[in-house]
Amino acid sequence: MSLRIGHGLDAHRLTPGRPLMLGGVLIPSDHGLAGHSDGDAAAHALADACLGAAGLGTMGDHFPSADERWRGVSGREFLTLVAAKLAAAGARVLSAQVVLVCARPRLGPFFAAMGEAMSEALAAPPGTVVVGATSGDGLGAAGRGEGIVASAVALLEVA
Ligand code: MG
Repeated sequence: MSLRIGHGLDAHRLTPGRPLMLGGVLIPSDHGLAGHSDGDAAAHALADACLGAAGLGTMGDHFPSADERWRGVSGREFLTLVAAKLAAAGARVLSAQVVLVCARPRLGPFFAAMGEAMSEALAAPPGTVVVGATSGDGLGAAGRGEGIVASAVALLEVA
């Protein structure tokens, strides 16, 4: 058994009139994340962190956005697909953290639900995935509320 760490980063633009899906949770907002799928930057960053830790490449390798098969697939579903790839590779997620840069809306009330939804999607015990956020203090595109950036780290045990 060896321990492996992975890092994932994702960003999606906020646009009016779309549902805001983050960490597999629907968050009340008049803006949602644009994207080929549901734009769930938290789930995408976490998926990349897990794939990277397991040495399995990136989301783009497995689910290229040019492939219509992946259009509309939710971030939660991507995590479920990643969990199957991890299991096949003999890898298990021990812990993970997702940090969001998000000026709006306030995400604090949803951290726990996002963590639980993503833990469950990864077939990992409750509490495996922890979520936090910073407002970005008005700096950069995410800090100005033009989009949401997600950074994730994951620690895996690999056979
Ligand atoms: Mg993405």
